[in-house]
Amino acid sequence: MKIQNPYTFEVIDEVAEDNARTIGDKFIQAKKAQIDWGRTNFAQRHKTIAKFSDLLQENIEGCALITTKETGKPLNASRNEIKATNARIQFFLDRVASKLATREVFDDGSTKESLSFDPLGVIANISAWNFPYFVGINVFIPALLTGNAVLYKPSEFATLTGLKLVDLMKQAGLPAGLFAPIIGQGEQGKQLLDEKVDGVFFTGSNRTGKSIAQQVAGRMIKSQFELGGKDPLYVCDDFDVQNAAESVLDGACYNAGQSCCGVERVYVHEKVYNEFLVKLTKLASDVKMGDPMLESTYLGPMTQPDHLQLLELHVQDAVAKGAKLLVGGARSKGHAGIFEPTVLTDVTHEMLVMKDETFGPIMPIMKVSNDEEAIRLMNDTEFGLTSSVFTENKERAKKILTAMNSGTVYWNCCDRVSPHLPWSGRGQSGEGYTLSELGIEIFLKPKAWQLRG
Ligand code: NAD
Repeated sequence: MKIQNPYTFEVIDEVAEDNARTIGDKFIQAKKAQIDWGRTNFAQRHKTIAKFSDLLQENIEGCALITTKETGKPLNASRNEIKATNARIQFFLDRVASKLATREVFDDGSTKESLSFDPLGVIANISAWNFPYFVGINVFIPALLTGNAVLYKPSEFATLTGLKLVDLMKQAGLPAGLFAPIIGQGEQGKQLLDEKVDGVFFTGSNRTGKSIAQQVAGRMIKSQFELGGKDPLYVCDDFDVQNAAESVLDGACYNAGQSCCGVERVYVHEKVYNEFLVKLTKLASDVKMGDPMLESTYLGPMTQPDHLQLLELHVQDAVAKGAKLLVGGARSKGHAGIFEPTVLTDVTHEMLVMKDETFGPIMPIMKVSNDEEAIRLMNDTEFGLTSSVFTENKERAKKILTAMNSGTVYWNCCDRVSPHLPWSGRGQSGEGYTLSELGIEIFLKPKAWQLRG
């Protein structure tokens, strides 16, 4: 498989893909390795993962270069993602031991009841490319700490990053075969699920999530799906307009809009609508686009060159149905692979750009006359990952956010993830959760003990 730089279009590497036979071998190895690892005392598992975390931090520059070259993520953003893994991994290092401990839950003198926890076994971790460190680590760190083996399928667009993570785990002293990469495309992901894995933890598109759900249906294994979104943000009339415009721009354009919780729909109160458009249009026109290797670049290329066509389709569909294009709307003329930050107004919920995940730097704006209208429109979606409101009034924010049907709600912020809170989607945004204590428990099977004597 050829690995291509999405900015220069150079082939930067070539790697061998797995096939059904090599995947079968890796599964057998993982199954064997898991038996010992599941019995290894927790202090040893903790030490290995802590070492991995240290190695990752020591290798920030090298890892960031790999990620930037294969995904086009601006170098600073790659570095920041890796730096932030430290706190995430530390969260798991601090919390897993208490989740593994046996709990005495009842004793009436004749019967004792307690609860212990076993690892699931061998899990399939099928991953996306947009935040390759975060989305991988959210799964494989708690999975390994709780005693599981992991067959880790990095995205074909972040293969070298995935292989680097596996190499660092090896250097940290993880037993051979316990954390093995499955290299390739969708086909290899499918073949991985033909093995008798004990769980599948998927991060990626809604389309692939549905296909995986069908493939594993009836197998009675743990399966969970972290999928895309169509996340709304509402700017109320009492909030500083400049601040709101800056937040919308960053929420929609960071990582070229390729964030599962990126801002995809913007609703603005009519009292501040005109002022907001002036400010946002100026900010969007000033974005520094270009070579992701330059420190000054904020917006780099789309990681998947084919995705540019979908962005064009969303703009063309909107304009054909009556939307106005204030800025952007096309591929950058000066930079290959880059789509310009785009502001669209007069959009409606009949347009693709307000219905389907866009996953690019496009900001469709709708004017609303009150909070009730905003709530109705924000909830008018099949997805439910995050929702955001910007207002000075906490009570007003609480009322609006309580009405939101999404896994995460934000007041005066957006497009952020915390290790302390469960990350979960509703509706077509998925099922299950990563992060938080809930994101540890999902890798364990409870065993209920009822004892007399
Ligand atoms: P994708 O669905 O194209 O691919 C994800 C992974 O699935 C890749 O490793 C791919 O090789 C594999 N795959 C593809 N077809 C498969 C099949 N039939 N069986 C098994 N595996 C298969 O998604 P992507 O383009 O890598 O990621 C972008 C999507 O991920 C966006 O929709 C984004 O919103 C979503 N995402 C969600 C979250 C979240 O936490 N909710 C986080 C990051 C990304």
